[in-house]
Amino acid sequence: MRNLIRGLLFGIVLILIYNHFHRRYGVIDPEFRDVYNAFQHEAILHHKSLNYANLTIEMYEPRVQDDVNGYCELSGDSAPPYIAIKRSKWNSVDAYGKEALLFHELGHCILHRDHINGLIRDSNGHLIPQSIMYPYSFASTIYKDYREYYLDELFSVN
Ligand SMILES: [Zn+2]
Repeated sequence: MRNLIRGLLFGIVLILIYNHFHRRYGVIDPEFRDVYNAFQHEAILHHKSLNYANLTIEMYEPRVQDDVNGYCELSGDSAPPYIAIKRSKWNSVDAYGKEALLFHELGHCILHRDHINGLIRDSNGHLIPQSIMYPYSFASTIYKDYREYYLDELFSVN
C-alpha cells in the first residue's frame, strides 16, 4: 500500500514537472488569430517571405504585476519561437493597440529585430517612436495615425 501511494505521488510529481517545463509548440491562441493573419498579410505586401514554423503565441497573466506586456523567447537557432502576451494588457487596448503589441513581439521572434529607442518628430513637431520596436508601450492613436509608416519601418530591416 505504501509503495502504491509512493508510486502515485511520484507519478503526480512527474506530471507536474512535465507540465511546468513542457511547452506546446506551434499553437496560436485563437484570440491572436486575426492579428497574426494580418501580420502574415502585411509581410507578403512588404515582400517578406518569413519562417513561422512552430511559432507559439499564448496568453499569460503574471501573479505579480510588472511593466512587461509581452515577450518573445528565442532560445537558440533550433528552439521554436515563443510569444506570450499579457491578458490584462491585451484586453485593455483597442484593435490598433493589439496590433502594435503583437507585431512588436513578432518583430522580435519572426523578424529577429531588436529594440529601437529612438524618437522622431512627426509633421506637427510631436515626438513619436521611430519604430514599433520601441521598448515601451505608446498610445495606440499614434500607431493608428502612422500605421503605414510603422509597417514599412518594421519590414524594412532584415
Ligand atoms: Zn520588445
